Parts: sequence; structure tokens; C-alpha cells
Amino acid sequence: MSGQPRLASSPRSVGQSPPRSGGVPSPGRPGGCSRRAVDWPNDLRVGFHLSIADGPVELFRRFSERGCSALQLFLGSPRTWEAPAWRPERLTAFREERCRHGSPPVVAHTRYLLNLASATDLVRTRSIATLRLEYQAAAQVGADFLVLHMGSHADHDHGLEQMVSGLRESLEGVAGPHPLLLLENTAGEANDLGACPADIAAVRHALPFPTGVCWDTCHAFAAGFDLASSEGRDRLIGELARAFGAAGVAVVHLNDSLFPCGSHRDRHAHLDGGHMGAANLAAFLLSPLLRGVPVILETPQAGADDPADDRANLSRLRRAFARWGRKPGR
Ligand SMILES: [Zn+2]
Ligand SMILES: [Zn+2]
Repeated sequence: MSGQPRLASSPRSVGQSPPRSGGVPSPGRPGGCSRRAVDWPNDLRVGFHLSIADGPVELFRRFSERGCSALQLFLGSPRTWEAPAWRPERLTAFREERCRHGSPPVVAHTRYLLNLASATDLVRTRSIATLRLEYQAAAQVGADFLVLHMGSHADHDHGLEQMVSGLRESLEGVAGPHPLLLLENTAGEANDLGACPADIAAVRHALPFPTGVCWDTCHAFAAGFDLASSEGRDRLIGELARAFGAAGVAVVHLNDSLFPCGSHRDRHAHLDGGHMGAANLAAFLLSPLLRGVPVILETPQAGADDPADDRANLSRLRRAFARWGRKPGR
């Protein structure tokens, strides 16, 4: 766990309480599109990371097949530096399909190569330029959120400063509340920044544009937050509330962890297939702090066309909520 980061605070601290996406008209939700009613406890929207590789029609078919009410996607190839380019026909089809499927919240995830805190100039420069393109693409698609991992750097405090200056260079004058840039917590592997809420809060406070937080349960557990115990969950909820306020966590990545608490190893597992278990994860999701957030599972999948794993994970989540006496989702 990293110590309290030291960063100069910005002249303007904004974006602490971005509006939840529920019910608010947005550029991605054209007129005549109404949002489908919520049927998960705590008004949660639940879905998966889905592939856009076969186009919007296929993506939303998979969305329906899994009974999703939220989704996450990459805007381009996640392991290359190519600019994310959607042709007009793809954009139109995406908007139409999204509307036909109840206007779910859409979370775009930036590619894994980005490291705005990199000590390597070439990586950092490319990351800054590519994040800007990803943000513009997310805006075109009408995504509600764009998720970025906190970077990594051997010198923790200098790394956080590099994150702030990199984000400013990339997005100042471009980023606004929609899509909202979300900083995601890390597992604290090697030189990872952002394993604790304080790191992310320090970066957010130093930025002149609104941001939010994407909280990954596997990363948090690996970083030492024991979500498998009620004391550990209370401690984490307290830290999240102090660092980000009542509505700072905008999206949850819901993954069980293959490795034990504090292992600093990031390997996602099926719900009940790791060290936390669906019941503990459901208890975390029932926190009032997370009311109404999109919950995205990034659990292993046998293949884009095989919904069996995803359906099994949703069944375990429904049963887990039922154990806590909450109305199960679909
Ligand atoms: Zn992520
Ligand atoms: Zn992960």
C-alpha cells in the first residue's frame, strides 16, 4: 500500500460528484430512446465487457443474450497504437442498436498500452496523444465513461506528478463531464500507481477537468483490501467515501481474484472461482455508495460466442444477492 501522495493541489478542484448516468439525457441517447427499468438490487446496472470486432449488431445481440443492462467495450484494438476509427455507418448502427436495447450505460475502456506516467519518453508521448484520440472517439460513440488505468513508475510521487501533467497535456480543453474520464485502481503490481484511493484522489484533485473513479474489486483485493470480510469491506467503503465523496465511484469492475488478498497479482476469476466469493462481492455492491452504478464483469470467457460462463456468473450474483435478502436480478 502506498503512503499518502504529495501533490500540489490545483486552483480548481472539480468533478468530485459527477451525476450518475441513470435517466439523464446524453449525446449518446438520442430523442425517443428511453432507458429500460432497473431490476438489480441497489439500482445497479450489470453487464460485461463485450467485443465490437463483429460490429454493433453482433455486440448488442451478445448483450441481449446475456441479459445485460450495461456494457463495456474497447474502441479499437487494445494492444496496438492505432487510432480508434469508427466509420459513420458503424457509429449510426451503434446508436440505433443502443437505443433498441434500452439505452444502457456505455463504458469505453482505453487500451492497455497507455502509461501516462512512463519513464520512457516515447511511451509517455504516445500515451498522451492516444488518450486524446480515445477520448474523442468515446465522445463520438456517445459513451458515458472512458476508463483509464493509473500508470506505473518506479518513483511513486514523481509518477503521480507525471500522471497529472500527462492528463493535462492530453485532455485539457478537451475533457468534460461527458464522457467522464474514470481513473481505475490497480493491483499494486511492480511499480503500479493507484493501488489505493488516496493516489487516485491526489491526481483527480490536481486536474482542471471533471473525472471519476472506476473501482475494480480484483485489483483492490490484490492490493490488500480484504473484501472477503465485513471489516475489510467497511474499511474500503470508508476510504472510498473519504477519498471520492458520495458519488465518486462511477463504475465497478466486478471480478473475483485468483490470488489471495495482498498478493499484488492481477488475475481475474469467475465469481465464486476466487478468494472473495459472490456473496462477499454482492455485499460490497449493496453499499449506498454504489447505488445506481454500472457494474461490469471482466471474468474469463470461453469465447465471444459462448455466453455460458457469463450466464453462470450472473446466476451466482443473483443467488448471492438473494442470500442477503435482496430481490434477485433477471
Ligand atoms: Zn481496466
Ligand atoms: Zn484486472
